[in-house]
Amino acid sequence: MDFSFLPDAWQLLESVQDGEHLILRVQDQSSHRPCPHCQHLSAHVHSHYVRRPQDLALGQRPVTLLVHTRRFRCLNPACDCVTFAERWPDWLEPHAQRTCRLAQRQSQIALRVGGEGGHRLLQLLGEVTSADTLLRLLRRLPLPSFTTPRVLGVDDFCFRRRKTYGTILIDLERHQVVDLLPDREAATLAQWLQDHPGVEVISRDRSGDYARGAASGAPDAQQIADRFHLFGNIREAVETWLRHHRDQLRESPNPVPTSLVSLPERPLARPAAQPRRTTTRGRLRIVVARRAERAQRYEQVARLFAAGHTFSAIAREVGLARSTVTEWLRREGFPRRQTPPSSLTRYAPLIRASMAQREWTVTQIFDALVQQGYEGAFSGVSAYVTWLREGHEPPATADQPGLTPVREKRLGVREVSWLFTLDPDRLTPEMTRRRSLLVDRWPQGQATYALIQQLTSLLRQAPTSGSALLASWIQTALDSSMAEIQRLGRSFKKDFAAICGAIESPWSNGQTEGQVHRLKLIKRQMYGRANLDLLKCRVLLA
Ligand SMILES: [Zn+2]
Repeated sequence: MDFSFLPDAWQLLESVQDGEHLILRVQDQSSHRPCPHCQHLSAHVHSHYVRRPQDLALGQRPVTLLVHTRRFRCLNPACDCVTFAERWPDWLEPHAQRTCRLAQRQSQIALRVGGEGGHRLLQLLGEVTSADTLLRLLRRLPLPSFTTPRVLGVDDFCFRRRKTYGTILIDLERHQVVDLLPDREAATLAQWLQDHPGVEVISRDRSGDYARGAASGAPDAQQIADRFHLFGNIREAVETWLRHHRDQLRESPNPVPTSLVSLPERPLARPAAQPRRTTTRGRLRIVVARRAERAQRYEQVARLFAAGHTFSAIAREVGLARSTVTEWLRREGFPRRQTPPSSLTRYAPLIRASMAQREWTVTQIFDALVQQGYEGAFSGVSAYVTWLREGHEPPATADQPGLTPVREKRLGVREVSWLFTLDPDRLTPEMTRRRSLLVDRWPQGQATYALIQQLTSLLRQAPTSGSALLASWIQTALDSSMAEIQRLGRSFKKDFAAICGAIESPWSNGQTEGQVHRLKLIKRQMYGRANLDLLKCRVLLA
């Protein structure tokens, strides 16, 4: 075995295999050693002892070094030191339980995958180290120094959701996390800013604490409210306002007339590249088998009930839930599956017409329905066809044999709030149509939409005269009759300078959110051990 990795001055006295363990007995050959205090060389050996550090595993075999260490007398009369132990600064630190190279590797592993993960990974590599030791090594790593950032991003992150929060500080110019703070109080941020003077721009969310902290810690710095959070505030205001006008949304827009469609002459040709589904015959076989099994169980349930067993006893015996047994017995008859989804009811005439023609398979019927605008799954059609074949009658529809007109899905408050706030150029034609349908017949909706778009386009386009336009928008909002919009105007007025910053400056918290995401990932990797010091090590160093 090659042991050339050992320091040149070391002599290998013996290598012993103890089970899986490899033990290397070594000794320093140099006759003179320097005193660590005065650097005087001494050859006067006072005593010996043995150190037992671990080293990197060799071929998955744990390695322990037995280092014969000498204690020397310092012969320099001016030195306070009487005796000293010989040292190998690059190889083995005083009192260390592992060689420097092993400690370095283990702390790097702890940095990347955490204590528990590192412990398991090292086990695979043949090095036995506890998770706690890895974390101790991690804590010992020096944190990187940083120059005070000119543009600082500030955001919060949670240690425990809704309970304890911390603050992450980012150098937005260098794309680097500079520090983590233990809470999200104004005073803590102010103190940090006072300790690190020179920050010129602070990008933050809309939290009042950060605004106050930044103002008192760095009064000369320009504050910027994050655009993402501003859009969030706007959308919230729109949502609240819409909630008070639900009746306007409830009144569904005019149904879109759909031409009555009759059955095509022949099945539609299927494109060859389409992946094959399970065959209809295969599906039917499964359906039939399941039904037979259910029928058998039902008979068993009925028999046991007639014999005077309790519901619970029957459920245990047959292997069904007690509620199912109750339901079956209450119905007095073999329980058939419930009616397939009603979304297919309006296609029932089409399905029946195609079923009447022998050569149509369920797959072809499904394709024909998709052509007519059916958006459901194949399995729904398959079940429906089976249900019709069993002799069931679909409920009558108004316009047989064609399709009934489509009644559009009503939009919810949240969906409409998006229609109000998104860039109109980015809406799909369908979204544009829905928005027009809604606001065209609703003057107040039209006015609010115009007002909101005025504000969002201001944030999106960032014109040079942004602050004047924002001031005039706030005045319009305050003069409006809508309480929610007035409230939005008041909150924007209070944070006016920072919002002007958001309009006129290129900085935002987008990058900060990315760093928070990374922090969360690291935190969750560490299970419950993500204390601030450990988290800081891994976020700043990894
Ligand atoms: Zn000395």
